[in-house]
Amino acid sequence: MINLAEPNLSGNEMAYLRQCVDTNFVSSVGPFVTQFEQAFAQFVGSPHAVAISNGTAAIHMALILAGVGPGDEVIVSDFTFAASGNPIFYQGARPILVDSEMDTWNLDPALVVEELDRRARLDRPMPKVVLAVHILGCPARLDAIAEACDRYGIWLIEDAAEALGARYTEGVFAGRQVGTIGRIGCFSFNGNKIMTTGGGGMLVTADAVLAQQAKHLTTQAKLPGYAYFHNEVGYNYRLTNLAAALGVAQLERLGSFLQRKAEIANRYDAAFQGLAGVVCPPRPAGLTPTFWLYSILLQCRWEAPLEQLLEKGIQTRPLWTALHMMPPYKEVTLLGSGRVSESLCAHGLSLPCSTGLSGDDQQSVIEAVLKLHRQSS
Ligand SMILES: *Cc1c(COP(=O)(O)O)cnc(C)c1O
Repeated sequence: MINLAEPNLSGNEMAYLRQCVDTNFVSSVGPFVTQFEQAFAQFVGSPHAVAISNGTAAIHMALILAGVGPGDEVIVSDFTFAASGNPIFYQGARPILVDSEMDTWNLDPALVVEELDRRARLDRPMPKVVLAVHILGCPARLDAIAEACDRYGIWLIEDAAEALGARYTEGVFAGRQVGTIGRIGCFSFNGNKIMTTGGGGMLVTADAVLAQQAKHLTTQAKLPGYAYFHNEVGYNYRLTNLAAALGVAQLERLGSFLQRKAEIANRYDAAFQGLAGVVCPPRPAGLTPTFWLYSILLQCRWEAPLEQLLEKGIQTRPLWTALHMMPPYKEVTLLGSGRVSESLCAHGLSLPCSTGLSGDDQQSVIEAVLKLHRQSS
């Protein structure tokens, strides 16, 4: 079986885990958590990083820090994994979904800015947060959105769970990585992400006070000292030392993972370029995607190709179902028609792209996809 996206754990992972076991620091106390936070902050170029139990918790915490509560509105990408939207409901707030643009597959900035300007003109209440997702490793275009957020006092929060290491190369954010543009950036280290801690996440911010609040609230909001005195309702959202040990080891190799993902994407692109009816993942000007998942758009729906490739021992997956198509979002406002995100989830298929994928295995995937394409045309 050629799997979709497997962890790559052949570096110092075992050595650091053994260190945790040998020293008894397996839980919420231990040196790896701080080490992981510092190394991660440095890698993404953010002044502060707070380790957290998973990416969903990071998004939840970001919304809490932004003061999102019952009745508030949060603008969020329509084409994303369910974990981007769920924390909005945890806070009793209402999502406003935004259709994608074809250029990046991310939320369409024009639709966001138009809505904010319209509300300003009509003197209507503003959403509290714009939660922009960087989907499948491709940075969202944030310049116009960030400007509008500044203008109207709205928090920009980034869900960078799928795009660790993706960068801006042109414009006002040139040289910066995803996650460092908004007030808070959220990352995930789930098993299928570009690096993993088993389960885990990170919240980054340039604001020292926010970082401190995040640390306090994610660790039960206990005041320092022996007394069990909690001055707020806190959360048990901490990352264990065991998970952080994996994180430190994975981070040492993140540069090589990113390079490998780029090589895999280049080879797939070369093989599929020019195939009628097959769309390769976006490579928008001024943005450097990571190709965390390598996903193509087919002319037909994804179901039959998935089955056919599975019969050949090739594991593929469809893209995320647009949020507006699922029951929790039945009554929710959608900006734009939703046709772009609907088309992405109808026709998208992610191909095997583990960093450990062998050249021969990638060749098998390429040949299987080419054959499928010949049969269908
Ligand atoms: C994976 C993912 C998350 C959630 O991260 P977990 O660590 O699995 O909780 C959030 N948003 C997006 C876009 C993701 O892909």
